[in-house]
Amino acid sequence: MTRKILVTSALPYANGAIHLGHLVEYIQTDVWVRFQKMRGNECWYVCADDTHGTPIMLRAEKEGLKPEELIARVYGEHTRDFAGFHVEFDNYYSTHSDETRFYSEDIYGKLKAAGLIEVRSIEQFYDPVKQMFLPDRFIKGECPKCGAKDQYGDSCEVCGAAYAPTELKNPYSAVSGATPELRSSDHYFFKLSDAKCQAFLREWTQQGSHVPPEAANKLQEWIGQAGENKLTDWDISRDAPYFGFEIPGENGERNTGKYFYVWLDAPIGYMGSFRNLCGKKGMNFDDWWSKDSKAELYHFIGKDILYFHALFWPAELEHSGYRTPTGVLPHGFLTVDGAKMSKSRGTFITAESYLKEGLNPEWLRYYFAAKLNGTMEDIDLNLADFVGRVNSDLVGKYVNIASRCAGFLTKFFDGKLVFGSGRALPAGSVSTGELVASHFEARNYSQALREIMALADRINGEIAVAEPWKLAKDESKRAELHDVCSRALHGFYVLSILLRPVLPALTSRVARELFGMERDFAWADLGVLPTRVNAYQHLMQRIESKQVEALIMANKESLAPAPEAHSQQRHAEHQQAEAQAEKLAAAHISIDDFAKVDLRIARIANAEHVEGAAKLLKLTLDLGTETRTVFAGIKSAYDPATLVGRLTVMVANLAPRKMKFGLSEGMVLAASDPDGKTAGLFLLSPDSGAAPGMQVK
Ligand SMILES: [Zn+2]
Repeated sequence: MTRKILVTSALPYANGAIHLGHLVEYIQTDVWVRFQKMRGNECWYVCADDTHGTPIMLRAEKEGLKPEELIARVYGEHTRDFAGFHVEFDNYYSTHSDETRFYSEDIYGKLKAAGLIEVRSIEQFYDPVKQMFLPDRFIKGECPKCGAKDQYGDSCEVCGAAYAPTELKNPYSAVSGATPELRSSDHYFFKLSDAKCQAFLREWTQQGSHVPPEAANKLQEWIGQAGENKLTDWDISRDAPYFGFEIPGENGERNTGKYFYVWLDAPIGYMGSFRNLCGKKGMNFDDWWSKDSKAELYHFIGKDILYFHALFWPAELEHSGYRTPTGVLPHGFLTVDGAKMSKSRGTFITAESYLKEGLNPEWLRYYFAAKLNGTMEDIDLNLADFVGRVNSDLVGKYVNIASRCAGFLTKFFDGKLVFGSGRALPAGSVSTGELVASHFEARNYSQALREIMALADRINGEIAVAEPWKLAKDESKRAELHDVCSRALHGFYVLSILLRPVLPALTSRVARELFGMERDFAWADLGVLPTRVNAYQHLMQRIESKQVEALIMANKESLAPAPEAHSQQRHAEHQQAEAQAEKLAAAHISIDDFAKVDLRIARIANAEHVEGAAKLLKLTLDLGTETRTVFAGIKSAYDPATLVGRLTVMVANLAPRKMKFGLSEGMVLAASDPDGKTAGLFLLSPDSGAAPGMQVK
């Protein structure tokens, strides 16, 4: 029976590049979807960029863009990277869409009608300069426990204490530097603590295999036993300014100044993307999302966002009249050479750099698949093992079969395959197909690939025994040669079918170029004998270790190592994004900081060379009421004679600095190109009318 299956991967946040950590999830999902489609099931794979929230708003502002412009650019980057790794969505959309807005409002309205939305006034830090409420990660101060400076509003990175932002000592806004004020504001809460939510989740998470057992145990801890009431209500609103969907008011008005928190509309983005696909394909959305839908719905996610997908999300769906997921399928994180991905070590590898360095995306697909076993364990990309494994399995075992035997078939037998002896394949091949299918279905790809490679070993073993290259030299052994090579190529055909979910591009070439088919392989092709082959063409290159070394070099940050607070997936991406935006924000200074710099107009009363100094000129600056001596590194650009009498700008309150040639009592301002594309130094000058001593501000 044909199954109807809707599959999602978690939505990547629209302010950063796709990296290999992300790809664990998209490749895992894509393999499963391709497998389902090959089996003849109706399977759709949808995803979208997750586009809302404070980090996107501030990042766009920082780049001088509208948020819409930023997310459009990132959309282009993300879809390019996914396509590069053969991740084939049926629809890749954006949460900033009419469809997602519609379902966000719809679900919110129905939860409200069900009595599950509550408005409460909460006290929160407000930045009076930036005029916005501050998320916890945008407030810094001294840790209330250990006194460490510059700690975030939610936890201390020095002593590990968790606390509320209001407990910080000397708090300041990471956006403007201003001292935040406590203000109260109405927030909207989804009442997860409501008895009906608790009862529903207790049952949903523990029965019906909606989550793997290890995840069910984790959820059990979070929910607690009946009567424990461990779930707390979820704050789903944010105050303006915010980039997102405004929460409609009592009468549907859209000027409430309250927005849905990005985590409310992110999973609803699955519905939005699918609704958009329905429009393109003429499908009925309700067949898939109504309470009585017979379709299956699976969410592939990172283990860090289990709370959102296995508690909030099914509770929202259940109480707003929609179907709940058939399965929430969490995976672990990616480590590289046994450690967290690191920018300083060059192991925080972007998808773009991998492709740019010319590495084959199917090498990585194969390696990830060989490590994925359907559990929440982390998977390790061991770089030496990556090279060895791909070369040994794909080139040495799989491709080798065709490269050794196909040529004899085209040379001596016009490409025709014969199966006269009736033994078409090595023993056990047919049962291997169903075994491999059961492992793909269970997302235990590592086991599937072990079975496939064991079959490849058996085929290679038969070839080694039969030695077709010797048979080919003896004209009397043509029939035997024909038989051996036909069976070898049949074996290669079977392996190619089984590998197609993992290696879609390579096996597409095998189907079309080698076996002359006009389509890609389907699972049912296992039951059909191939009849002929075309001339063999080179299929896959070996990986060279130096390619991997070049990839690591390309990803190494030359700057001082950034704090490695990068978690790999979404939860963390919002947080990470906030932290990044915070770093950007930290590049801002407040007006008070700027006011500390005393900038003055100065007249260059005298300028002269300094004996023994290669770069410096000695300037005597007239500030109207006093003169200063300043040694300025502008010798390469100016002849001192041309400077005398000119007006410029100086920093008048810079601490005097003792230099080899004398005391320097300030600094003159000059422009230069940090990238060195334009050579030279350009001294600043005021417009005419300015006089020595005037303040610049
Ligand atoms: Zn502390």
